[in-house]
Amino acid sequence: MKNTKYKNKAGHSIIMVIRIGPAGTGGDSLKGIHMIKEAGLDAVEIEFVRGVKMSNELAKKIGEDNRKLGLVISVHAPYYINLASEEKPKIEASKRRILDSCERGHYMGAKFIVFHAAYYGKTTKEECYKMVKDAVEEMQEKIRQKKWGVVLCPETTGKASQFGDLNELIILSKETGCGICIDFAHLEARYSKEYDYADAAKKIRNVKNITAHFSGIEYTAKGERNHILTQMSKAKKLIDALKKEGVSITIINESPDPMGDALKMKKLL
Ligand SMILES: [Zn+2]
Repeated sequence: MKNTKYKNKAGHSIIMVIRIGPAGTGGDSLKGIHMIKEAGLDAVEIEFVRGVKMSNELAKKIGEDNRKLGLVISVHAPYYINLASEEKPKIEASKRRILDSCERGHYMGAKFIVFHAAYYGKTTKEECYKMVKDAVEEMQEKIRQKKWGVVLCPETTGKASQFGDLNELIILSKETGCGICIDFAHLEARYSKEYDYADAAKKIRNVKNITAHFSGIEYTAKGERNHILTQMSKAKKLIDALKKEGVSITIINESPDPMGDALKMKKLL
C-alpha cells in the first residue's frame, strides 16, 4: 500500500490510497492470501464466479488469517445472476447467490460484494433499473438484519445488452446507498473505444463506496469478448487520472495473469 499525500486541484492536502491486487488466489484461497501478501500486494478478490462453494468455516479461517495480513478482500458473486429476469424464480436464485456471497464475504472480512446485476432483455432500461433497484434494496434489508459488514457493488458491464453503464450505477448508488465496481476494461468494450479515464475519475470521485477492476480487453461491436493481458501504458494513464482527481480506490487485476499484471501495476504506482 502506498499513501500519497498531495494537493488536489482545489489545493487541499489529502491522503490518497491506491491498492492493487489480483482476481482470484490461484486455487487455494487460504494459502493464496498469504502468497499475495508475501508478493507485496494489497488486495484480492475472491472469485465465486461458478457458484458459492466455500464453506462458512473456511471463510472464517480466511478472515482470521487476514486480520494479520491486512489485505483488502472483496468477493465476486457468481456470473449466473439476472435481477431483471422475466422468470421470478431466476430473480430469487440470483438474490440467493448474491446473499450467499455476502455471508462468506462477511466472515472473510470483505467489504465489497461485486456482481453483474442484470440483462435488459425485453424490458426497457427504466424497467430494468427499477427491478435492479428493488432487488438491491431487498438484499440490503437482509444484510442489515444479519448485521453483515458488506456493501453490494454492482459492476459496470462490458456489453450494451447488460445493465450497468457508469451513469446508471452512479444513480443507483445515490438512490440506494449501494457501492459501485467500476471495470475500466468493460467500459472500453461497452463503448468500443478507450475509455476516458480522467472523465471516469471525475465521475467516481464523490462515490462513497467504490472499487475497481482493470485488465486488457478484446471486444467486438457487441461488446466484451475476452479479458487479455494488461497494457501497462493504459494502466499508467489510469493511475495518473486517479491520482490527479485524488481517488482512493482498490484496483483488482482481472487479466489472464492477474498476479503478474497486478505486480506490474504496483510497480507503476
Ligand atoms: Zn470485472
